[in-house]
Amino acid sequence: MQKIAVMTSGGDAPGMNAAVRAVTRTAIYHGVEVVGIRRGFTGLMSGEFVDMTLGSVADTIQRGGTILYTARCEPFKTPEGQQQGFQVLQEAGIDGLVVVGGDGSFRGAQALSKLGVKTIGLPGTIDNDIACCDATIGFDTAVNTAIEAIDKIRDTATSHERTYVVEVMGRNAGDIALHVGLAGGAESILVPERPFSMDDVIRKLERGVARGKKHSIILVAEGAGRGMDIGKYLAEHTGFEVRVTVLGHIQRGGAPSAKDRVLASQLGAYAVELLLNGESGKMATIYQGALTSVDFDTVFSTKREPDMSLYDLAETLAI
Ligand code: ADP
Repeated sequence: MQKIAVMTSGGDAPGMNAAVRAVTRTAIYHGVEVVGIRRGFTGLMSGEFVDMTLGSVADTIQRGGTILYTARCEPFKTPEGQQQGFQVLQEAGIDGLVVVGGDGSFRGAQALSKLGVKTIGLPGTIDNDIACCDATIGFDTAVNTAIEAIDKIRDTATSHERTYVVEVMGRNAGDIALHVGLAGGAESILVPERPFSMDDVIRKLERGVARGKKHSIILVAEGAGRGMDIGKYLAEHTGFEVRVTVLGHIQRGGAPSAKDRVLASQLGAYAVELLLNGESGKMATIYQGALTSVDFDTVFSTKREPDMSLYDLAETLAI
C-alpha cells in the first residue's frame, strides 16, 4: 500500500480530529503517503484532496469538530456517484481509505470497498448508535457536555422548585439520555427503545413531590418525543411549573474527552494496520473490550440495544 486517504463524513463528533491524526501519523510511520479528503463523499466526488503531513495534524488532538470538514452527499448514494468517487481515487493513486462517520457513511465506504478500494470505517458519532462497538468516538464527550448542562439546570430547578424537561440528542438511540439520566439523577428517562406512558411520568413526579423533592428532571431522547410537547403536556396535566430545555448542537461541540481521544487514537492506528494487512469492508472497533474489526455487513445486520440495565437502575435510584 503506497497511498491512503482519510475523510470524515455525516454528523461531526468530538474526537474525529484525534482519529484523523492517528491515521495520518500511523501511515507516515509506516512509510505510507496520506491525503485528507475534505467534506466527506462530496469532496471525494470532486477530488477535494489535501496533503497530510506530520505537521498538518499538529495541535488537533484536543479540538472538537473536524479539520477535514464533513458533509452529507445524496449523489453518493447512487451507483453513478460511487463509480465517480472510485474513479477519483483510482486517478489519484489511492489504494486505501479510512472513513470516520456513522452508519450511513459506512454504507458509502462499503460501496467503495466492493468497487475495489480497500476501505475501513471508524465509528464516529455522538449518538452511539452503531452496532458491534462498545462506544463510538464522540459519545463520551457528548455525555459529559450534557451532564455539565444538567448540573446547571438542576441548580436553577432546585432554586425555583420547578420541573425541567431536558431534550438530548439521539434520534434512533437512547444512549445519551440513559447515561446522562443516570449520571444526572433524572426522575424519568424517556428513550425510543422503551415505551412509556405520560401517566407514569406524572405519577413519578407526584410521588417525588409528596416525599419532599424540590425539583424534577425529565430527560428525553429526541427519538422518544419532543421536549416541548412533553413539557406542554405536563404543564397542562399537573399543577407543576414546567420548563423545557433543548440542549441541541452544543452536544456536538467542544474538546473531546480523554476517553474519546484515546479511543480515536487506538482506532485510527488500527485502521491503518488493517489496511496494511490487506483488510477491507470492515469497521475498526473496540467491542466487548477488545480491539477488533467487524465486517460492515455484520454491523448492518446486528440489532443494537443500549444497556437497558442503566434504565432500570436509574428508575430504582429515582425512587
Ligand atoms: P452518518 O454517517 O453520520 O450516519 P448519514 O447517514 O447522513 O450520516 O450519511 C453520511 C453520508 O454517507 C451520506 O450523505 C451519503 O453521502 C453517504 N451514505 C449514506 N447512506 C448511503 C448509502 N446507502 N450508500 C452510499 N452512501 C451512503
